[in-house]
Amino acid sequence: MQSGEGKIAGAADVGGTNTRVGLVREDGKIIRIEKFPTPVQGKPGDIPLAIASTLLEIADGIPLAGLGVAAAGPINAREGYLDHPPNIPFNIVPITAPLKEAIRLPVTFRNDCRAAVLGEICAGGARGYDNVVYITISTGIGGGVFTNGRVITGRGGNAGEIGHFPVDTTYNLPCTCGLYGHWEGYASGRGIPIFFREWCTVHDLPCAEMTTPGILRLTAEDIRYSGFRDALAKVNGRGLSTVIAAYDPECIILDGTVIQSNPDLLDQALMCTDRYLDLPVCLLSPLNGDAPLIGAAMTVFHPEMI
Ligand SMILES: [Zn+2]
Repeated sequence: MQSGEGKIAGAADVGGTNTRVGLVREDGKIIRIEKFPTPVQGKPGDIPLAIASTLLEIADGIPLAGLGVAAAGPINAREGYLDHPPNIPFNIVPITAPLKEAIRLPVTFRNDCRAAVLGEICAGGARGYDNVVYITISTGIGGGVFTNGRVITGRGGNAGEIGHFPVDTTYNLPCTCGLYGHWEGYASGRGIPIFFREWCTVHDLPCAEMTTPGILRLTAEDIRYSGFRDALAKVNGRGLSTVIAAYDPECIILDGTVIQSNPDLLDQALMCTDRYLDLPVCLLSPLNGDAPLIGAAMTVFHPEMI
């Protein structure tokens, strides 16, 4: 199976609802994938055990270079555990040690956005760049930063939490982290409806209906509400400007359901970036939501990059 196709690694993407486990080739191609509900009813150790048994089942004897695991943070990458994740009802979820014991292979563990930026560089829209920022705008806002040939990880693996960059002082909306004015509190799938309601109140307008949480379904005729698009573009432009000023990337990859299903949000945000900035290439991820999973495998193949 392996001859002529390069090496294969196992990869896992642990989410609050589902976990995906796959086999990924060195060139980034996913050759097998399995999804199951993340086991959150029993004890924390059930999560690594479910990953291990699924991996062994789909590998079915195929030799693997290792297993890369990605999860939404916060994580402790060095000690190998999930540290009080907001979307999983356990305080500590051990990942690295129990997996190593169960599968007897090298195991790497990274935040999903830090893995995703590596996925984009090795197999996605950022191939050929040395300075890249990956931004996902879905339920929350997360980021992964690759600079001068390496992913920035920080002390515990949590560097690049751009969703908590301050972007506004006018509406002063609360963020999931408990502070105010953060990007995630306004422009994420969770934040947009809250921002919209607040914007309507401030502008003395009846609150229009949002059919899908976090996805604005206003038509072009909704002139009354077009100001909200401007307000949202301003916030996104502020976020992007800060990202560019902080990291000076050659390329920004945007991913996540909110931006992928509303690509015009990117164009509008770019119109609102600070004028003095030299804009990098900005594009939507071509990896169909698989950047974290592919990137998790790339952490096995390219440990020097993360
Ligand atoms: Zn925050």
